[in-house]
Amino acid sequence: GQLVFSPRASNKDFTFQPSYRNENATLVFLARNSDIDGVVSSMREVERSFNEKYHYPWVFLNDEEFTNEFRGRVLVETRSSVKFGLIPREHWVQPDWIDEAKAAAARARMKKEKVIYGGSLQYRNMCRFYSGFFFKHPLLQQYKYYWRIEPDVKYSCDTNYDPFHFMINNNHTYSFTIALYEIPETIPTLWDSVKKFIEKYPQYIVNDNAMEFISADGGETYTSCHFWSNFEIADMDFWRSEAYQKFFNFLDTEGGFYYERWGDAPVHSIAAALFLPKHNIHFFRDIGYRHATYEHCPSGNEYREGSCSCRVWNRIVIDYRGQSCLPKYEKISESIKQGGG
Ligand code: GDP
Ligand code: MN
Repeated sequence: GQLVFSPRASNKDFTFQPSYRNENATLVFLARNSDIDGVVSSMREVERSFNEKYHYPWVFLNDEEFTNEFRGRVLVETRSSVKFGLIPREHWVQPDWIDEAKAAAARARMKKEKVIYGGSLQYRNMCRFYSGFFFKHPLLQQYKYYWRIEPDVKYSCDTNYDPFHFMINNNHTYSFTIALYEIPETIPTLWDSVKKFIEKYPQYIVNDNAMEFISADGGETYTSCHFWSNFEIADMDFWRSEAYQKFFNFLDTEGGFYYERWGDAPVHSIAAALFLPKHNIHFFRDIGYRHATYEHCPSGNEYREGSCSCRVWNRIVIDYRGQSCLPKYEKISESIKQGGG
């Protein structure tokens, strides 16, 4: 059938395209076999709210082979093409040059201190994989943009336009729906490493960056603000770029993915804030999204066009609560609107 596109009030510069063509983009889903129920649930959310109209392909990645049961239960959820990929070992496991005694001590200490996932090696592998490797996977080489999906997420609005198309048309590289403060215990020395990087490679820091989002004192200390990376629509060529490659390799060598518990969210966010002009980062205000106990719920009718099922007064809606960094981001985006960007 024919797809009808309406320019959205919230996305005023969205260009109407009478003959619709899909972008070079895919839905990316890292999962374990045991995540299957949450995977199916998330697929239903994404297909219902968006993808059954747009048919973007799905790519599933795992550090172990997906079982036939997993594959079978995924395939019946979509009419799009689906690929299942195995992650190369060297993209996943803790590298040999990490001092395992030191890493194990950090895991034991953080477990005792009840830092979430503090004792987990698997979780560290996952964070490092999303920081430095997913976009190198053979199945993703043909794609430029991706939309990251996780188990058990909820999409509460119908999206009646193509967010990939919107990103590309507006020159956006990275996008988010929720911005939070990172747990400080997971990243004690991350900012020190970032400062070292900036000193060594000042040429990669762009003018008109979003430094204000990540530092309130011109780079001295980290605000701990990060875009929550379980939702991401972004351009993988950014992660493949020289600046980001240098950045990831530098951080990797510092060892904090294993000696601490650096998350891919602060790593991606700091990179986006330093290496991209701030107007290349987009807040999808109109995409209602829930992961675990935090939710972004569009407020204001112009952002709820596709009729959202979320309620802005719900306790888990985080947008303007104390734990949210959205107000900080909005201060920057205000300056973009006022011609500062
Ligand atoms: P949280 O959102 O930070 O609580 O972490 P999740 O448990 O949701 O993990 C983040 C993503 O990585 C999800 O898509 C998981 O399915 C996936 N994931 C986490 N650990 C592993 C793992 O050991 N193997 C694989 N294949 N996927 C993992
Ligand atoms: Mn998750």
